[in-house]
Amino acid sequence: MIINITDLLMSDEDIKEVNSYLDMKSIVIEDIEYFFEDKIKINIKLYNLDDAEIEIIGHINAKIKMPCSRCTEYFIKDLDFHFNRTAHLNDIDAIEQEPITDERDIFIDEFNIDINQLICDEIIINFPMKVLCKEDCKGICNNCGCNLNNEKCNCESLDIDPRMAVFQDILKKF
Ligand SMILES: [Zn+2]
Ligand SMILES: [Zn+2]
Repeated sequence: MIINITDLLMSDEDIKEVNSYLDMKSIVIEDIEYFFEDKIKINIKLYNLDDAEIEIIGHINAKIKMPCSRCTEYFIKDLDFHFNRTAHLNDIDAIEQEPITDERDIFIDEFNIDINQLICDEIIINFPMKVLCKEDCKGICNNCGCNLNNEKCNCESLDIDPRMAVFQDILKKF
């Protein structure tokens, strides 16, 4: 999705709002491909600031399939966040002379904003590194590898703190 901001720059109106759904299949973050479960809901407000700057205030809601950090089972993570950034409009004369060096503004090309690029950028920045399928996820047994949310194993005694194990040995003698 490309948004042209010429009207925002030319008119007296200093705000342009975009409410939409982006249809993206997946996103690659650190060599891992994550799939979106649904369309990405976006709300973006563009403000025309002085000095060739556009302030972008956005809200993103995406549903991503990702593995639980504790039990490794895939689940659908609701990614919901706000972002705020300022984009610098490129001086057209300057573009012809030198390549764009500021990577953060790569989504903006003259008077077009590449919304998909911007949203991907923001999802990468806001991507949670540790997620749990549920708050009280029991994880995986360190000993036999079973998912403790679904089954019980008999490794329990091995999980005991060594100091407690000594105590347990003493108890066994009685
Ligand atoms: Zn889990
Ligand atoms: Zn076990």
